[in-house]
Amino acid sequence: MSAKLNELTRWMKERGVDLTLITSPANILYLTRFHCDPHERLLSLIIPAEEQPFLIAPRMEVQRAKDAGWKGEILGYDDAEDPWKRIREKLDRLGRHAVRTIAVEKEHLTQGRAERLLSLYPESSLVSVEEKIYELRAIKDRDEIRLLARAARLADYGVEIGIDTLREGCTEMEIVAEIEYQLKRQGVQGMSFSTTVLFGERTALPHGTPETRKLAPGDLVLFDLGVIVEGYCSDITRTVAFRRIDVEQRQIYDTVLRAQRAAIQRCSPGTPIREVDQAARKVITSAGYGDRFTHRVGHGLGIEVHEYPSLSASNEQTLQEGMVFTVEPGIYLPGKGGVRIEDDVVITADGCQILTHFPKELKIVE
Ligand code: MN
Ligand code: MN
Repeated sequence: MSAKLNELTRWMKERGVDLTLITSPANILYLTRFHCDPHERLLSLIIPAEEQPFLIAPRMEVQRAKDAGWKGEILGYDDAEDPWKRIREKLDRLGRHAVRTIAVEKEHLTQGRAERLLSLYPESSLVSVEEKIYELRAIKDRDEIRLLARAARLADYGVEIGIDTLREGCTEMEIVAEIEYQLKRQGVQGMSFSTTVLFGERTALPHGTPETRKLAPGDLVLFDLGVIVEGYCSDITRTVAFRRIDVEQRQIYDTVLRAQRAAIQRCSPGTPIREVDQAARKVITSAGYGDRFTHRVGHGLGIEVHEYPSLSASNEQTLQEGMVFTVEPGIYLPGKGGVRIEDDVVITADGCQILTHFPKELKIVE
């Protein structure tokens, strides 16, 4: 059993949990290295407190689970079978008749599935396993950091392609298409979220979606993208100017860059997480743009592009070695334009390491 599964089993015993049922593809990937989107079919990792964990999966996925390295048992079921019955039969064979407390992902398990589960064990009650899994997922091991670093390198490359492709009159969507086309040629199977390229006044939309706006001299250009490498995500943002930059654009750029560097300076083990946000916010507020920095400074990064920890001004937890997250302050001036600079950062034993490497000095693209 992996160290992660061992840790989870230890938690189950401490809490008196008889059985854990994991159904979210992200947590199954985390615990088994098997990634699968089963659509409406049931895919579950079942962990009895006293016996070996097993997977239940649609029969057509069984080989892929083995290929992903899952060494435990896999119950494959056909579309004509009831997987819940199979689970109960299997647990009965293991002698698990008294199941009182079942841990599930309460934020993920549907009401319908919860009812099916409770119908197998009418005497049982459900508790949440999510807090424990998110606590585990927040600290990355060396293998996970290696994958995140590879994903970050490819994100750097995506920004480079985007900048190299900019031409007067091109559209946001054309740049998105070129970035994703070139990344796929490099073997990237998926983006961690929809690639964002925004021009001009549209850079003031923190979550804008690319359209057919045409690039013109004097526009700011914002790239926000990431890729998935063996299940692990990257997330980078760079903002550049096209042909020229005005005084206010330059001022917000310099401010965001100073804020981002101030925040990264605070990234070391033991620092309260809120201080990272506060460090960036202080720089932006003293430049007079405090009310234009409208989001937290960052978020955890791993199997999901947003996970724990949340780098907000109210998070009282402290940074720990192995945490990986983004640092991405921004300033958004409605109707005029915005700047955001985002890196992926890993906390090391004595500080931090930045995984994304694309240069951050103001770049005016000709
Ligand atoms: Mn981003
Ligand atoms: Mn982000």
